[in-house]
Amino acid sequence: MNLEKLTIAELGRLYRERRVSAVEAVAAYFKAIRAKDGLLHAYLSVNESAALAQAEAVDRDRAAGAELPPLAGIPLAIKDNICLRGERTTCASRILENFVSPYDATVIERLRGQRAIFLGKTNLDEFAFGSSTENSAFGVTRNPANPEYVSGGSSGGSAAAVAAGLAAAALGSDTGGSIRQPASFCGVVGLKPTYGRVSRYGLVAFASSFDQIGPLTRSVEDAAVILGAIAGPDPLDSTSVEAPVADYPAGLEAPVSGLRIGLPREYFGAGLDPGVAEGVERGVKILEKLGASVREVSLPHTASAIAVYYVLAPAEASANLARFDGVRYGRRMPEGATMRDLYELSRDAGFGKEVKRRIIMGTFVLSSGYYDAYYLQAQKVRTLIRQDFESAFKEVDLLVTPTAPGPAFRIGSKVTDPLTMYLSDVFTVSCNLAGLPGLNLPVGRTAGNLPVGLQLLGPVFSEELVLRAARALERELGGPGAV
Ligand code: GLN
Repeated sequence: MNLEKLTIAELGRLYRERRVSAVEAVAAYFKAIRAKDGLLHAYLSVNESAALAQAEAVDRDRAAGAELPPLAGIPLAIKDNICLRGERTTCASRILENFVSPYDATVIERLRGQRAIFLGKTNLDEFAFGSSTENSAFGVTRNPANPEYVSGGSSGGSAAAVAAGLAAAALGSDTGGSIRQPASFCGVVGLKPTYGRVSRYGLVAFASSFDQIGPLTRSVEDAAVILGAIAGPDPLDSTSVEAPVADYPAGLEAPVSGLRIGLPREYFGAGLDPGVAEGVERGVKILEKLGASVREVSLPHTASAIAVYYVLAPAEASANLARFDGVRYGRRMPEGATMRDLYELSRDAGFGKEVKRRIIMGTFVLSSGYYDAYYLQAQKVRTLIRQDFESAFKEVDLLVTPTAPGPAFRIGSKVTDPLTMYLSDVFTVSCNLAGLPGLNLPVGRTAGNLPVGLQLLGPVFSEELVLRAARALERELGGPGAV
């Protein structure tokens, strides 16, 4: 049996039937990691002895007859911008190369409570700035479908690990598409929850009014299980919301007949890859066949979304990254004669090119004289983008779009041209600007055998509905991993 290709639900069943132990599963994953991760580079660090110790404890308790939670013994990978006590959290940056987190993020604490197992920390674009994992200070993550291609980003390591059978599921973070886009490039399910649904405590902040943690999984059911485990209010994150956490797996199989689906006109224009368009069309036809009604809608401010995002996200990032100065946090360059020298030398040596670009852009749009023209103006357009969605959701229950305009691209093909790279986020950033939940579902492959993803977007706190529609599509497409 290929243990490292099973979904969480399948592996959990084998555990409960005592046909497989957690130690066996963890061993199978480390064998796969040793065989494949030299090429793929999904992981920045692994902790085999800690994972095996966690697995042994789970097996012992199960043997003693304990009733264990659904994630007990499930081997997970964690994006390396999420803090795990006693482990390095590098954000794929030289400046944090030796930073060991003294505490667990709330999501980690909740997964520990469920007795999940942590295999290691996954690669990302430095501080999650990017769409290809090429901005990692520690080397690119390759796409398991074709190693000449990027895995997407910034959660490329998490997506590749799940797609290649190097973890049963993973956590990523999504500020402008960083869960959904790599999920689409690698052919896995990726869910960005509503802003405020999941605590951000212990996630190294990129843009605090956008960031959300979410799951990357092999099935929709697994995404529902992980969301249920990590969601809910947290006194340590004042933006986490009190709204009750639904039993996400329970509602998955309910019918979708009568559902009103909207196709935003602005997401289906010129420039869309024909393979992607075909995959999304296939998904829409399935929903229609299942009794959903489909109509075109308009989100008129879509064309401004990239510009607004690339003003606001760097502005917030430039403020959040001020703490990495070689004193409070980060690698310190010793040569400086003055305090200012110390800051400059440390930040110059510690940050990569894209990080510096974002800090400069962010500082620029916040400077006096430019604040009103850029930052304030972008905030106003952010409101208009949110209102576009609010009007659309008066007419329809969910929106269906492509997750990205194209499939994975070749390593090296966009990295020297930041603007082209930024434009690849055109279908994912609006969801973050409006704080909505969004999910990537694999729906097919291009002629070149690269995965294609469909994006479902819903109103705030509609995760149950988003997951239910995704599950209906997944079932019709042949089940998890069929496409
Ligand atoms: N690609 C986007 C960026 O570079 C989104 C990144 C993210 O969601 N972390 O900002």
